Amino acid sequence: MPSKIGIFGGTFNPIHLGHLIVADDVLCKFKLDKIIFIPSYLPPHKVIKDTNAKHRYKMVKLAISKNPNFKISPVELNRKGKSYSIDTVKYIQKLYKNKAHIFFILGVDAMQEIHTWKNFNELVDICHFIVVSRPGYDTLHLKKKIAKYLDSTEKVHFMKVTHTNISSTEIRVRIKTGKNIKCLVHSDVEKYIYQHKLYV
Ligand code: ATP
Ligand code: MG
Repeated sequence: MPSKIGIFGGTFNPIHLGHLIVADDVLCKFKLDKIIFIPSYLPPHKVIKDTNAKHRYKMVKLAISKNPNFKISPVELNRKGKSYSIDTVKYIQKLYKNKAHIFFILGVDAMQEIHTWKNFNELVDICHFIVVSRPGYDTLHLKKKIAKYLDSTEKVHFMKVTHTNISSTEIRVRIKTGKNIKCLVHSDVEKYIYQHKLYV
């Protein structure tokens, strides 16, 4: 049987428990062999001010270190420049000699922008998409929207995950305003953030 590989991309600025819960739920439901977390170098549609890619990478590594089904890849960091998912998925496919089934994991909020991604129709054609629910984002509206842009939605799967109202934005704001983040991130990530004085 071909392996089933999840790809979970993001800026992870920083990685939080919401990300880990999503990954756990998806791994379980789709019976994936592993999920590869891929921190972006330069997200094409976002400005990252204060945290360099190395810090974001290291925090992901710390957060997933105890889960044998979670891996991390530096492919986007090494490639530098803008991180396009189409390039990353093709790289991972090659790595598995085109024999694995690839599942690209993203939230409803990210999927809303799919029509702005490089070669989005090709991307949805060469791998499966798992679109996970996120509080505050409307899945029904998204379904109607993507039907307009995508040639086919056959490989787009929607999944309701355990809801957490956590975002990296909220964590950055909490740190700036002196609030604790203990219940929102892995304890090693919390330590790392303070050690390196991130987001202050
Ligand atoms: P930011 O606030 O900086 O945008 P974020 O919390 O959205 O950070 P990202 O790194 O942008 O985190 O997200 C990576 C992926 O994880 C995206 O596909 C996003 O939709 C998904 N995601 C992040 N947090 C959640 C959550 N709490 N529930 C469901 N999906 C999530
Ligand atoms: Mg985001």
